[in-house]
Amino acid sequence: MGLLVIPKVRLFNSETPLVRLLSKRKTIHLRIALVFVLFSLLITFFSSLVGWHYQKLAISSLLDEREQLEDLHTREAIEDIISSFENTLIAISSSDALDAVLTANQATTLPRLKLRQLFIALAKARPELLQLRYIDQLGHEQVRVNHSPQSRDFQLVLDDQLQDKSQRYYFQETKALQQGEIWHSYVDLNFENGELQRPLQPTMRVATPVYVNQMFRGIIILNIDASPLIEALKYSSVFLVSLIDAQGELLSHPDPSKSWSAYFPERGALSEVYPELIGELSPALMAAKHNYRMNLEDSFNNQQGLWVLKQPKQHALEELYKNSRYAVLTSTLIILVIALPLAWLVSIYPTNLQTKLVDTLHALRASRKLLDQHIMSSTTNSKGVITEFSSAAAKAFEVDRKSMIGKTHAAIRHPSTSTKVHRDLWDTILAGKPWQGELKNQTSSGKTLWIDTVITPRKDSHGEIYAFTQISHDITLHKAMEALSSTDSLTETHNRRKLDQLLEQQAQRYKRADEEFAIIIIDIDHFKQINDIYGHQAGDKVLIDVAASLKETVRQIDEVGRWGGEEFLVICPLTDLEGAYKLAEKLRAAIATKLFLPDKQITASFGVAQYLCDEATNHLVHRADLALYEAKSQGRNRVTTAPQELAEQAQNNR
Ligand code: GH3
Ligand code: MG
Ligand code: MG
Repeated sequence: MGLLVIPKVRLFNSETPLVRLLSKRKTIHLRIALVFVLFSLLITFFSSLVGWHYQKLAISSLLDEREQLEDLHTREAIEDIISSFENTLIAISSSDALDAVLTANQATTLPRLKLRQLFIALAKARPELLQLRYIDQLGHEQVRVNHSPQSRDFQLVLDDQLQDKSQRYYFQETKALQQGEIWHSYVDLNFENGELQRPLQPTMRVATPVYVNQMFRGIIILNIDASPLIEALKYSSVFLVSLIDAQGELLSHPDPSKSWSAYFPERGALSEVYPELIGELSPALMAAKHNYRMNLEDSFNNQQGLWVLKQPKQHALEELYKNSRYAVLTSTLIILVIALPLAWLVSIYPTNLQTKLVDTLHALRASRKLLDQHIMSSTTNSKGVITEFSSAAAKAFEVDRKSMIGKTHAAIRHPSTSTKVHRDLWDTILAGKPWQGELKNQTSSGKTLWIDTVITPRKDSHGEIYAFTQISHDITLHKAMEALSSTDSLTETHNRRKLDQLLEQQAQRYKRADEEFAIIIIDIDHFKQINDIYGHQAGDKVLIDVAASLKETVRQIDEVGRWGGEEFLVICPLTDLEGAYKLAEKLRAAIATKLFLPDKQITASFGVAQYLCDEATNHLVHRADLALYEAKSQGRNRVTTAPQELAEQAQNNR
């Protein structure tokens, strides 16, 4: 029984391409999603900034509203309190009790008693009334009730204790008023017997003149406890309130130990308590600190220039900001919660694109590497300076790839390459067309390297050539084979096959461009004898030497080849019968005068023929042959031309 072995297939082995692909994809996805997340974070940050800014504005306007509302309430409260005392004053002025005092005989005390009772009744009803007085036209106190609210005690001032107040400012100022007008004092602290009353007693006085038949008859003056006024001012849930006079002295400060600075120089005036505000009471700066200023002169009407400074209570401000912070934080969180999954989703499409791009790039790199290693290629700029040179090309030319950068292709050109080829090449590529052809080059060690090459101009978007790319392949071997297959191995001249090709080419040129040409057929005389006498090898040597002699005598454009045995053929392009005849004579003389063998003169016979219109090449050779035959029969070592009229006959013979 055999054992069935099941191989463990580990699909998710970390080495499998699938896993590699997945993890690559994941990294790309993560990166792109991260970009989106960063993007949304940025947006969140800036929108939070904007949100925060607007929240701050909202807080400001909320505080503005609160301040305006409180302002209104405060004024109302103060004016209510003050006007209630004014009403008390008016009530006293128009009371029968006062009237009785004014009309009574000076000596009677009863009317004064009645007024005193009225004063006591009023003080009982209004505990804030600290002192009620009637002072006569001369400034003498006539009726005076002192009231201590703490002890609920009424001090009925006896006549002998009544004082002369004619020189006091309140008497002077009230005396100057018209009937019905009311005088208001500064809000200050009460002095008792020349000393500050303890505990401190904020006081305000209101007074009105009393007239009888337009005659000034004194004043009614009330001392009022100003504490309820100050309390009314300070009452605020949002603001800390300070009451300040025109000189910047603090009457009231949220911290009681800083109040009444005018009486306590060590407590410091406004400049010391609020140094940050001095010189900065401009509306803009006040608003920036959420500070408010409220002028109260209209409400107090006492020339003291009272105003209040309102500063938001720290805990109230913090409460407002805390709510704003929560609002901004919540919106930020919401944006983030939406942004994160959205970023993941949105990045799927670019991830796919990016993955494809990366894959394509890898594939491109791989094929580029293959091309570099196996394809000879190079790139030059528009001036022919090499900018890229493939490794395959460097290997073929036996050079260092990098050393070629900056050089031109002249560095690898074979010295024998004709300038015509290069001129033709440059003319073509500079005209913007690709050039294809064979080029003979040389490796760094001097070996010939034939290449078949295509040079393609590369153009920019404006059609300007900025580079040339050359792709080549090595045809050196092919060239060698070609040479072998067309060369006669003994004489190293063209063989019969090559001669046939060349004849055909010439015939084509005649047809295409009317280029005339002629041929010379050469046969060594009595060659059989040479073989017989000197041996076959010597015969071969003669053949080699005759071929060399022919080659060096003909012109550059003429082609020499071995037609067979001891026969040679010379093709003379752009040559008529006469020219060919002359050349044949020259060749004949060259052979006849040269010593190929020590004691044997060698000669050859020549048949010359010019190509005729539409003639087959073998017919041309046939005519030359006939001429050669003629030369032989006329005694050898001579040149005979094929008569032009023989053409018809020869044509017919075919
Ligand atoms: P003619 O003056 O009439 O041309 O006389 P010929 O002896 O040259 O003519 P023939 O055609 O009778 O003889 C040619 C001889 O050339 C025959 C042959 O042995 C010799 N031959 C042909 N090819 C070669 C060769 O490659 N090497 C040598 N050594 N001899 C060759
Ligand atoms: Mg022969
Ligand atoms: Mg012969």
